[in-house]
Amino acid sequence: MTEHTKTDGLPGDEAPAQPVVLERSRPRNERMAGDKIECNACPVLCQISVGKVGACDRYANRDGTLVRVDPVVMLRRSLGGSAGIAAVVPFASDEPADWSGDLLLADEVFVTGVGSSTTYPDYKPAPFIVASQSAGVDMVTVVTEGIFSYCSLKVKIDTDRYLGPEQANVRCKGEVVGHVTTAEYGSQMLSLGGVHHLTGGSKKEGRVTVEMMELLGNKQPVEFTIDGGAQLLLQAGRAPVVNGVEEQRMRVGCGSATIGIFAKQFYGLADEVVVVDDHITGVLTEHQAGRCLDMRASGIKLRGRKSTPGRYFQVANPGTGWGGTDIADPLSIIERWDATAAWPGLRLLMTSTTGEHCSWYVLDDALNPIEQALPPAAQTVVDRIGENCEPSLTTVLFLGGAGGSLRAGVTDNPVQLTRAIKQALVNVTCGGAPAYVWPGGGITVMADVMRMPERSFGTVPTPAIVAPIEFSMRMADYRALGGHLEHVRTLEQVLRRGAWHDDGAPTGRRWLPNPAGNAWPLGQPPLLG
Ligand code: SF4
Repeated sequence: MTEHTKTDGLPGDEAPAQPVVLERSRPRNERMAGDKIECNACPVLCQISVGKVGACDRYANRDGTLVRVDPVVMLRRSLGGSAGIAAVVPFASDEPADWSGDLLLADEVFVTGVGSSTTYPDYKPAPFIVASQSAGVDMVTVVTEGIFSYCSLKVKIDTDRYLGPEQANVRCKGEVVGHVTTAEYGSQMLSLGGVHHLTGGSKKEGRVTVEMMELLGNKQPVEFTIDGGAQLLLQAGRAPVVNGVEEQRMRVGCGSATIGIFAKQFYGLADEVVVVDDHITGVLTEHQAGRCLDMRASGIKLRGRKSTPGRYFQVANPGTGWGGTDIADPLSIIERWDATAAWPGLRLLMTSTTGEHCSWYVLDDALNPIEQALPPAAQTVVDRIGENCEPSLTTVLFLGGAGGSLRAGVTDNPVQLTRAIKQALVNVTCGGAPAYVWPGGGITVMADVMRMPERSFGTVPTPAIVAPIEFSMRMADYRALGGHLEHVRTLEQVLRRGAWHDDGAPTGRRWLPNPAGNAWPLGQPPLLG
């Protein structure tokens, strides 16, 4: 612009100046003691004295430097080599002792988000943006710890016992932290945590909720009570404990399915078989399976609501007795016998869907069932039912919304990441564990905590959950979505130097083997196909 074309009082048309980005903001509290550091890794902005940690125990003031105290977890594809599994090794070493050049070439290392630090206050690029090669393809993995306000745990409890009414409150330390949700086949389901319990209730409710989520996510035991239902002790990967009793078996199927599966094996051993189940109680001679075996009708009449032949709903109330009902005496579900069909000497087997409960009766002359010892041949079939029941487990899935600000750690144009994920150009993992990305808008991911490294989850007092997340893609796709290319580091640079920024960066790394059941995060078909 020449001098004479300038217009006084109007802005010029030069490009706006770039903002000055401070590595760390000026302290909010100007009177903060000189030896304190303000951590800005989350909105709490702790002021941390030398030798102390912040409110979340994750960041510390180490001799005037803000550091992430936990090591970042690195996965090795295979065991062996020079990497000391589970050993913590410092970054910033000229000659790292835990890797050799071949390890880098061998497509063997994956940097996880566990302990990696975060992108807060949101415009910061992810702490690790790692270039590597996989099967000859240039790859990049964007690694961070997400701070999740929108997150929950979906808990699957393998039991047919009644835990409480659907929609009932689930409590931890007296606080409502979730609810009973729709039961699935052979399992009761809970939905725990979530934004309304974290931030929508009292401070105490939020604190108890976030502590519960951290413990359960980190595979620790947590006690719960369900309003109008059971007391639970739950731990991911372990059998649930219901009202003080450890569950053993998941039912083989509903009562009708159990009748169908074992009908031929019951044939000839009993004249009638009733499989008691809170969902569908099965009656062999009336069921299609018994009719196809041309079994004689026994004349038994059950309580409850008949669904289809040989299949009955609501024979009793839900409970922790036989087959997830509240009954202790199986005869209580028999309304009567049709005297024109039943006969003295009729042999009746009653069992639950797990085979844990079973009784054997023979009708007397007045058609009253008289309990007798279970014949060995019938016992064999009941044992077979038990054998077909899988062990009862508690499964905990982490469900988190990654569609918000953490995307800015990947690209300046966050919707590009969302689109690339929907186009299957990006493999999303949580601590290296495969993550299911829900269809529809946003990036809502779900991962099994049992497939994630130990101590993957942390908390911040906002309150929110801290969880690892990684986005792996071809380098060309990362470039196309406007990634932070200036912050890409090679695997070798990462192993030598650590995170790209100094402020709150991890100071060490911990090696773990890639879990046997987890696909290698960089080897997924859309990435390498
Ligand atoms: S709670 Fe943790 S992450 Fe948040 S400011 Fe304090 S030390 Fe930093």
